[in-house]
Amino acid sequence: MSAARKTVAPSGAEVTIEPPRFDRPEIEIRASSRRTKTGTAHWSGSRIIVLIPASLRGRGRQDFVDELVERLLVQRPQSTGNDASLEERAGVLAELYNDGVKPSSVRWVSNQRHRWASCSPATREIRISTRLQHCPEWVIDAVLVHELAHLHESDHSARFYEIADRHPRQAESALFLDGYALGLGLTMERADVDKVVSP
Ligand SMILES: [Zn+2]
Repeated sequence: MSAARKTVAPSGAEVTIEPPRFDRPEIEIRASSRRTKTGTAHWSGSRIIVLIPASLRGRGRQDFVDELVERLLVQRPQSTGNDASLEERAGVLAELYNDGVKPSSVRWVSNQRHRWASCSPATREIRISTRLQHCPEWVIDAVLVHELAHLHESDHSARFYEIADRHPRQAESALFLDGYALGLGLTMERADVDKVVSP
């Protein structure tokens, strides 16, 4: 990656920092001559540290790093990676931005192919697509605040945006998600409120 920065650590390992991309966080690659064959990857805060043998070069090196990162990303329960912590986060955001109005449940779902999230005001349930699990936490927060605001206003009215836009990064989050959808080749719907439809 052209924007990657390279330094040498006190241990002698060559350190390369790859800036975050839409689908993964910042990666710190430490290439050590003491390491001969194996590679490992682990989280350090919001960054992934990858340890690789210094002998790896070029294309093989990039593929090796990518594979270690992918493997870790698939495993990772993010801090919001389970329903309990997602619900807890929604509770905090409800206090901050939604006048303390909380949903009856918030959970991750993997069956929403064209929505990042949805809300059923009648039952007060919020569902968040598992695709967002690899997004930065501020994006997940902005999406949660958007859905929470639907507990007040079920449509995208001016009054709705008065509440949803209390989250300071709402516009930025929308841009991020447009790019994320493009990167994943997805067409997303804007409709995210499940209304009770009479038969
Ligand atoms: Zn909405």
